[in-house]
Amino acid sequence: MAEELLVWLNGELVPKSQAKVSVFDHGFLYGDGVFEGIRAYNGKVFMLDEHLDRLYDSAKSIWLTIPLTKEQMRDAILQTLRANKLRDAYIRVVVSRGEGDLGLDPRKCPKPNIVIITDRIELFPEELYERGIEMVTVSVRRNSPQALNPNIKSLNYLNNILAKIEAINAGKPEGLMLTLDGYVAEGTGENIFIVKRGELFTPPAYMGILKGITRQVVMKLAQEEGIPVHEAVLTLHDVYIADECFLTGTGAEIIPVVKLDGRVIGDGVPGPITKTLIQKFRQYTQQVGVPIE
Ligand code: PMP
Repeated sequence: MAEELLVWLNGELVPKSQAKVSVFDHGFLYGDGVFEGIRAYNGKVFMLDEHLDRLYDSAKSIWLTIPLTKEQMRDAILQTLRANKLRDAYIRVVVSRGEGDLGLDPRKCPKPNIVIITDRIELFPEELYERGIEMVTVSVRRNSPQALNPNIKSLNYLNNILAKIEAINAGKPEGLMLTLDGYVAEGTGENIFIVKRGELFTPPAYMGILKGITRQVVMKLAQEEGIPVHEAVLTLHDVYIADECFLTGTGAEIIPVVKLDGRVIGDGVPGPITKTLIQKFRQYTQQVGVPIE
């Protein structure tokens, strides 16, 4: 039998089956907390400092003080990967408000729970990267930044889950979410890009999206390839008439989109710029990162 995974829980490495938190944790009761999804490739943690910055920014924004310095969190992540002998992994860091009473008041939760889970990665089947996926626009709108800023990576993912449910019921693997005003926002767990006449376009962060780290990397790699990159307000029409379209995220990496709402995008196959970026991204993830050992 495979050895049981070890989970970092409030400073200790415990077997997965014993990694438990209280039902009075406000993360469980209210989705009150923040998290990150990070990946390690080839013995190195990809964009670790960027993920830590986003985690601490999310926590600050919800008035949650993480009782570890970024340096200590960084060490804890590396320690967990080493303990599980993982070189290629998906890393989930969760900081919840902690145990309190049944009211909302976060001051009644003196001790946040910190969890680091490292596991093997579950990729979309390679076939989907070669063929591309079909998407549908969902009716549920992305949270408005005036209500709950999507730049906060909070434990409260119901907005995205409701969108995912719509996509699933439409028989598609992903859903496209719009802003309240009906502009293109993002996928349920990925950012969106389109290619038009050799140039790359993606919605700006102020539209109310999660400012994805993969998005940031892809923008940089594209610029290095000499592909102009624009942050622009996009409509569904822009996506329907795009030459190429793809999604980006830590889990999905770069996944081509070949159909949206029944409209074939470009030639209906992953386009040349998408393919180049996938190749560059894969090379880059193998090369850079914080060494685990
Ligand atoms: N948007 C949403 C809503 C997400 O949850 C995620 C990833 N978790 C992304 C975009 C992509 O962000 P990143 O590239 O940092 O993983």
